[in-house]
Amino acid sequence: MALEEYKRKRRFEETPEPPPKVEKKKGNRFVVQKHEATRLHYDFRLEMEGVLKSWAVPKGPSLDPADKRLAMQVEDHPVSYFDFEGNIPEGNYGAGSVMVWDVGTWQPLSPVPVDGKYVPGTEAEAASMLAKGDLKFRLNGKRLKGDFALIKMKGRRPGSKGNEWLMIKKHDDHVVEGYDAGDIDESVLSKRSMDDIAGDARSREWKSDRPAARGKLKAAWLADAIARVEKKKAAQGPRGTQKKKASSKKKA
Ligand code: MN
Repeated sequence: MALEEYKRKRRFEETPEPPPKVEKKKGNRFVVQKHEATRLHYDFRLEMEGVLKSWAVPKGPSLDPADKRLAMQVEDHPVSYFDFEGNIPEGNYGAGSVMVWDVGTWQPLSPVPVDGKYVPGTEAEAASMLAKGDLKFRLNGKRLKGDFALIKMKGRRPGSKGNEWLMIKKHDDHVVEGYDAGDIDESVLSKRSMDDIAGDARSREWKSDRPAARGKLKAAWLADAIARVEKKKAAQGPRGTQKKKASSKKKA
């Protein structure tokens, strides 16, 4: 059953992420979520076969064909993950802030070009290309547009899990040389920055030395997290000597 791994990794009574559910309706959306977990990365997800097929792209997708971006295939996500933006609590899988960085629709491209140009393909071709590890597709997002390929790397490197793909922009009218997804720190849904999104969670952690705040905490995980932070702060000496950023890094 699809989404089993998604389910296994999460405790739904603790995380605001949506529960696993395979969608019966067909759809052709895509989403890119900027995710500040243990390591910052961008999750690229294609709606396909009732789920979101997902890849974690450490440097983010690029519109420059010269960039071959490493994309680690990760577990399928439920379609309702499409617009998930918020904070995954500390101690949970993927803990950290999630921003909806891009949304749009996609279509598979036929593996056989016509007159040297890629043309829309069928759903069956998409399934076959995915299985073969050479998926060509066209994106129509707010930020990402044009033709791309996701190509599975053959020949496993030592220590590799065999889930490594490359995401590559094809040459077309949408190429932007030197593109860097990191230049745009704004949600396409809420216009918030990563700091804005993290804000609530961070301020709860960092203003927690006010006793009144602690009484309002409903979730046990948060109380525990704050207790750990306070213990660390006490051990490290006077307040204000640590960097906010470093302490906000979460365990995955
Ligand atoms: Mn992620």
